Amino acid sequence: MSSPRDSQSVRVRFAPSPTGLLHLGGARTAMYNYLLARQTGGQFILRLEDTDQKRFDPTAEQDLKDSLRWLGLQWDEGIDVGGPHEPYRQSERKAIYQPFAQQLIDSGHAFYCFCTREELDTSRQEQKARGVQARYAGPCRELPAETAHARVAVGEDHVIRFKMPKDGSITIVDRLRGDITFENRNLDDYVIVKSDGLPVYHLAAMVDDHLMGITHVFRGEEWIPTFPLHAHIYRAFGWQEPEWVHLSLFLKPSGKGKMSKRETEAMRLTGQTIFIKEMQGLGYLPEAVLNWIALMGWSYDDSTEFFTLDDLIQKFSIDKLNPSNAAIDFRKFDHFNGLHIRALAPEDVARRCMPFLEQASIPADMDTLLRIIPLIRERMVTLDEAPEWTAFFFKDSVDPAPESLIAKDLTAAQSHAALQRATAELEALPEWTHTAMETRLRALVEELGLKAGQLFGLLRNATAAQPVSPPLFESMEILGRDVSLGRLRHALTLLESQLQ
Ligand code: GLU
Repeated sequence: MSSPRDSQSVRVRFAPSPTGLLHLGGARTAMYNYLLARQTGGQFILRLEDTDQKRFDPTAEQDLKDSLRWLGLQWDEGIDVGGPHEPYRQSERKAIYQPFAQQLIDSGHAFYCFCTREELDTSRQEQKARGVQARYAGPCRELPAETAHARVAVGEDHVIRFKMPKDGSITIVDRLRGDITFENRNLDDYVIVKSDGLPVYHLAAMVDDHLMGITHVFRGEEWIPTFPLHAHIYRAFGWQEPEWVHLSLFLKPSGKGKMSKRETEAMRLTGQTIFIKEMQGLGYLPEAVLNWIALMGWSYDDSTEFFTLDDLIQKFSIDKLNPSNAAIDFRKFDHFNGLHIRALAPEDVARRCMPFLEQASIPADMDTLLRIIPLIRERMVTLDEAPEWTAFFFKDSVDPAPESLIAKDLTAAQSHAALQRATAELEALPEWTHTAMETRLRALVEELGLKAGQLFGLLRNATAAQPVSPPLFESMEILGRDVSLGRLRHALTLLESQLQ
């Protein structure tokens, strides 16, 4: 099912409030906007809805821009990049909203309200006591226009409220959910301009969406309760409404309820996060983040799970969005990260591992790293594992615990003898390749009547001395003859200390 809006030149916006770090839900909304814009040759706009000074977080804007750029969701118009509708921060657009608020007053769709907080609280409590839904019940709605204007003119504190019809209903179309009807009597005379003269989100966003020619509004399901107010505002101005798309929410991993602050903090302790910036630090790829969140609310078919951003641009469609809420599944995230690590060219994986190695003070060089990557990328889940997989390649020496050099079911003396023979065999090898090493040592295992795991485990501990390491012979090939043999000889000395 398509709409007339779909055939217009698409203009979509991501319009977050700068209240904290960009999280999964916001990133997904941004991505769906981006996909529709890229797919149709339209424009993707980034607007900052910062009229709520109380919740304003001064670091949020930078995080937002960094996170979107890291994800590869570059906007065409908006903060930082500019465009025909500057400024794109609502706090800088105060003068733009004023005439629109005025127009609503003049047309009888809004009114000045002079009620004090105390009066409003008392009225709310009275209504509660009577068991009715609390809404604005003060006298200002009915004030004659001249009286109200006169009070404004003398500088009396006031807000502007939307004059909600008291009866009747409003039916609005949500692209995912179909027609939704709201009874007006259940709606309030919402404040649309605060006493500081700044509009609240409800007015500012509608005015901006109209002025900026927004054709499709993607936003979270949490905006459904105030959706009728938004439609009333559009209709009061007589503007053409955008396509409204209220996206599903993300639920806690348990599937029970929305994410809470407490849950988010608890997650952090287990190395999981819903914040984009922190995902980067944990070694996730932006490609995996996008793939994972794209499928939390949208599907292409029942079987395809791997999508690059380009695939998503081609395949995304509004009609395949799913309104059911999805539980956050971090195992899937790991799964996608692994898939995307394996889909990258080794050079790219190496380049992206580098910062993690630097942070762990591992003096890795690109050439060696490039030889290691094919050995580890099959098993890597996140890039931050790179140090634990690769550290031993870049050390001058390793110090295995002497007990780790005693093979299972062997004595120290037997282990020493086996290691000595293996070292001698390797020394005698004409070429230092993993295949030559493996052939020679498998023959030795036979000859000594050992199990492969016994001898190879010993060699692994001697050369790598770390809990995880890539395949033994490939690793020794990369370490090179001198370093490998040096480590084996050092292990022999260590083992000697275990001999009685
Ligand atoms: N500023 C709103 C928010 O952060 C945006 C809602 C919308 O997209 O209309 O949730």
